[in-house]
Amino acid sequence: MKKKEIKWLLDAANIGMYEINCEEKTLDLSEESYNLLGIASVDRVSRVNQLHDLVHKNDREHYHRLLKEVEEKETALQTSFRIIRPIDGNVAWIEQRGICYRDEENQKKIISGFQWDITPQALHEEELSHRIQQQTEYMSMISHELKMPVTCALTYAELLTEEINKGHDISVLAPKIEIQMNRLSDMIRRLLDEHTSFIDDTALIMKRFDFNVLVRELIDEFEKMTDIHRFSFTPSPLEPVTADQDRIRQVVANLISNAVKYSPLGGNILIATHALPGGVSFVIQDEGIGIPKAKQDKIFNRFFRAIENNEHAIEGRGLGLYISYIVIRQHGGHIWVVSDEGCGSTFGFELPDSTGQ
Ligand code: ADP
Repeated sequence: MKKKEIKWLLDAANIGMYEINCEEKTLDLSEESYNLLGIASVDRVSRVNQLHDLVHKNDREHYHRLLKEVEEKETALQTSFRIIRPIDGNVAWIEQRGICYRDEENQKKIISGFQWDITPQALHEEELSHRIQQQTEYMSMISHELKMPVTCALTYAELLTEEINKGHDISVLAPKIEIQMNRLSDMIRRLLDEHTSFIDDTALIMKRFDFNVLVRELIDEFEKMTDIHRFSFTPSPLEPVTADQDRIRQVVANLISNAVKYSPLGGNILIATHALPGGVSFVIQDEGIGIPKAKQDKIFNRFFRAIENNEHAIEGRGLGLYISYIVIRQHGGHIWVVSDEGCGSTFGFELPDSTGQ
């Protein structure tokens, strides 16, 4: 195959060619190399250090060192680095291969080879390693959180045995174990829910149910777990609604759990349901710590937490509202918040009835 034909093939495969003259520190790039490095024809580079300046600052030293090493040892080059493309300012990942050899005529060292764009694969790998890191952090938080109620319950259980052996009254201790066990079971329920949230777009299982009954049951459950919050429920008369009952239960549970959690000093929690044309709505208002205005637009983002110095040490992973947002969106509904820092929050959602969908 002739040199010209090889060049056509490389261009067609989006593979660029480069040649570095190590003695003179000059650089020769093919047309395709200019394209993938994002260098316009008017800004052509001819010196090695001009190319180094375009390499991302975090990769520059490594790239520079590697070229020197390849030159000194006259070996093969295989690396990837990020480049800031002058033409659009975007970051591109470049894979570069080559070899150092001596020019037949004057024995000067040349590094020459090919380069191509690997940005999509590199971004995918970056995203994967980010996810793995998040999962690892998530697992360590989970272990820490689950340990607390288990340790408490075990301590109470030991005390209980002692008290029984002494023939003492155990009516105070026994409910304490129940509270810790309820906490544990609530945590496990949330963890399972959060786990499902990593599998995007799980199919909804539609059922016809009484929304007021679902809300009432959850309020009864949460009321048992706190002495410092007063719940008030104002249900409106509602027709049965068709939706994924378990997922909607998860949303209502998240909102009630947050109203309790983020009102560490207690207070009133007002809950209401309303009939809408073609659906229902749910509103929950608390008197807790509230959410700063500047953070409210990110509140439904995954892993977002609005609390700053967390003086009340409120545990959480910033997933409950994200899951709630996904579930309501999957139903074609809308979830919202109104809040003032220090004055409590009101969360609500509208849930369209999915009959016939
Ligand atoms: P988590 O509570 O596990 O952090 P969520 O997704 O349920 O996760 O909530 C995200 C963030 O929104 C919380 O960390 C908290 O800062 C804020 N938040 C949620 N609900 C309330 C509320 N009722 N009052 C004040 N802040 C809230």
